[in-house]
Amino acid sequence: MTTKKKINKSAALRSIPAVEKVLQALGQTEVPRPAVIALVRRELAALRQEKDVPDFEGVLGRVRSSLRALRSTRIQPVINGTGIIVHTNLGRSPLGRAVLEKLETIAANYTNLEFDLAGGERGDRAAYLEHNLALLCGAEAATVVNNCAAALVLMLRQFTSGERREVIISRGELVQIGGGFRIPEILEASGAKLREIGTTNKTSPGDYSKAIGKHTAMILKVHRSNFFMDGFVESPSTEEIAAVARKNRLPFVEDLGSGAVLETEKLANIEHEPTPDEAIKRGVDLVCFSGDKLLGGPQAGIIAGKARWIVALKREPFFRALRCDKLILSAVQTTVDLYLNGQAVDSIPALAILRVSNEALQARASRIATALEALPMKTVIGEGKSQIGGGTLPRSVIPSVSLELRPLNMPLTEFAARLREGSPPVVGYVAGGRFKLDLRTIFPRQDEELFRAIHRAFARVP
Ligand SMILES: *Cc1c(COP(=O)(O)O)cnc(C)c1O
Repeated sequence: MTTKKKINKSAALRSIPAVEKVLQALGQTEVPRPAVIALVRRELAALRQEKDVPDFEGVLGRVRSSLRALRSTRIQPVINGTGIIVHTNLGRSPLGRAVLEKLETIAANYTNLEFDLAGGERGDRAAYLEHNLALLCGAEAATVVNNCAAALVLMLRQFTSGERREVIISRGELVQIGGGFRIPEILEASGAKLREIGTTNKTSPGDYSKAIGKHTAMILKVHRSNFFMDGFVESPSTEEIAAVARKNRLPFVEDLGSGAVLETEKLANIEHEPTPDEAIKRGVDLVCFSGDKLLGGPQAGIIAGKARWIVALKREPFFRALRCDKLILSAVQTTVDLYLNGQAVDSIPALAILRVSNEALQARASRIATALEALPMKTVIGEGKSQIGGGTLPRSVIPSVSLELRPLNMPLTEFAARLREGSPPVVGYVAGGRFKLDLRTIFPRQDEELFRAIHRAFARVP
């Protein structure tokens, strides 16, 4: 009796269970064992710092919840019910079957990545892709790097050197794209000096001419992808800026951001997004844009324009640090060919999604709603408002269809959390006291999974 009491005095220390015991209680998990062991050790060490140690079930609960948290950070497929087609947080553009099939054979085999099959010796990387990409962009030449930010950094490094470091840019274009991409910061990180001209709302061709001096390296135009300005606004046309650049023998670069290559206004009732082809026709020397926004390919940064500058960029030692691997190159290659073959609108998910009719969405919504009838939940079929997202066409809204759910036995936030933490995770949005799922961004092949995920959210164990 007395000895027991003595032990209890230091219960805080002694009741920390052994790692082995916790592991046994956890049983089989999908997370590799060494990672689970590390997590259990960490949790137990944290408990040692605490005054009141919970009982074994309590400890197990904490370990389980931290294991769930770790597991949820693993990259995995998610059902996107947000209605945002190019959702930066959800991986931007999904790839289509045609791209995946080619990708698989490239990934599983040796390839001619840098081997000239005709000559039997070392060859250029991605010569075919670059050829076709240039054609698609209406450019003399084109190349690909890791992302649009990398493309911009590469060009800035190429065109700025020694005394010539100034990059002229309108104050109306010093934008921030998503998290962590600010044009002024990218410029500085590349060793360029920002030479701001005009004002937030007004910049004239004269502002460009006046700013040019012996330190000027290039003129940069940045597409205002994710916002728009209205009212007392003025900026020179691309042609006008191009004329100033030509007169002063300066490279003129445009960061197009999304890089739609088809006319977006013909795909859906949305605005026109400037295309690489247009920019180049208007006198831009080099354009850059993302591969995984409206192009609908993998993450990549595409540069297109004057051949002699593309050649120079590829000679930059830094290019080596930004180049893509064979999987990405293969995916871009197939994507570009789909465009050239006129198959893009059907085969590229980001574009196909734009064109799905509301009748088709409505039919799916009713089927799912019927299947959900037995649950303690009010289900309504409402109107959705899909958007391109990814920082493009902020004004364009595509009418859609949404499933609007109101569970009767739990708060909306709890319901949303359970769906997010389910398998597969379902991401929607809460508006007007309902949890909404926009069907436009949910693939029909996911309907069954979605229905099951909603059912599971009502079962106790998520
Ligand atoms: C999205 C965007 C970028 C960044 O592109 P990443 O491919 O994500 O590096 C750069 N500039 C503009 C204008 C953009 O819209």
